[in-house]
Amino acid sequence: MAYLDYNATAPLREASKLTVMRALALGGNASSVHAAGRSARAMIEDARSAVATLAGAEPAEVVFTSGATEANGLALWGAVQGAVDSVPKGGQRITRLFVSAIEHPSVLANAAAVADRFAGIKLQALPVTPSGVIALGALQDGLREGKGRALVALMAANNETGVIQPVADAAALVAAAGGLLLVDAVQAPGRMPMPRADYVTLSGHKIGGPQGSGALILRAGVPFTPPIAGGGQERGLRAGTENLCGIAGFGAAAAVCEPADSRLRDRFEAMLREIVPDVVIFGAAEARLGNTSCFALPGIAAETALMALDLDGVMLSSGSACSSGKVKRSHVLAAMGVSDDVAGCALRASFGWNSTAADVEAARVSISNLVARTKRVAA
Ligand code: PMP
Repeated sequence: MAYLDYNATAPLREASKLTVMRALALGGNASSVHAAGRSARAMIEDARSAVATLAGAEPAEVVFTSGATEANGLALWGAVQGAVDSVPKGGQRITRLFVSAIEHPSVLANAAAVADRFAGIKLQALPVTPSGVIALGALQDGLREGKGRALVALMAANNETGVIQPVADAAALVAAAGGLLLVDAVQAPGRMPMPRADYVTLSGHKIGGPQGSGALILRAGVPFTPPIAGGGQERGLRAGTENLCGIAGFGAAAAVCEPADSRLRDRFEAMLREIVPDVVIFGAAEARLGNTSCFALPGIAAETALMALDLDGVMLSSGSACSSGKVKRSHVLAAMGVSDDVAGCALRASFGWNSTAADVEAARVSISNLVARTKRVAA
């Protein structure tokens, strides 16, 4: 088996698995004052420190969530409501929401819903260049034009193409305009320097932690009203008994997350170019995450390729994995102006902590066979 789909989810790391099992055995509620509760609390606080270190943040800024989808939703709803609630204290409402066109659906859909729900918010999509980088000029113009406080959502690196976004430059523009910045940093840890922003979101399972764990890093003093009320967990910012196993496992994965290099991905792309000289590699001219390759084998539909590779035990994904398991057109490639024909052939290989040269070799054999079969059929 060759698993080349780390951007969808990374296999659980051993350290994380052991910690999850310890947490399962522990069983206390972190809000209880007795010994079992205190042990659970200690595990959560250890995890908080590890995630804070990974994010370059303070432990007090870490709010654990059920994943990055929830963290993105919390950030958007919480920031907009928080800004409304800050008005009596001299704060300013958010009137403009800028969202890059290549954000994850959890950002795009929540941003649209927020703009719908709150009167007086204008939602603007920020375009990207053909190679998948957000057009900073559009952000600069947009920030200059409107009135009122802006909230900008820009991901650190795109999950489909791996293209790294100019977050530091965007942060400077947003700060100069007195706005707020949300950065979805799900694909960043171990792959690029961690961004700093008003709201940063992370997902445990992309770094070898358990699925269903994540965090919102809330910079001190930013507007935030929690959308869900309940017990006072997570300092009242995210109600609900903590997912002890998820949090502890996320922390353990964060503690062992180390910088990765791009050698396997580069070897993979060299292999692709050799077998398929007309292969299209998206974003290749840009700074990309060293673990990600998004490419199209012209003339071979993504569904066909995915199934053929899967039969050989080689697992990658189409340009955009979607929850129904069906391949749908990627909004990221569409935003880059990629034609339907080419986008329909887009695949993504992504590497991680347990990837080896044998995985690339398995992909080489399977893709070579697929290409040979396709040529025979065409002939
Ligand atoms: N943002 C990005 C960039 C992602 O890649 C993902 C996962 N595909 C998410 C958010 C959602 O994360 P989660 O699975 O933890 O909800």
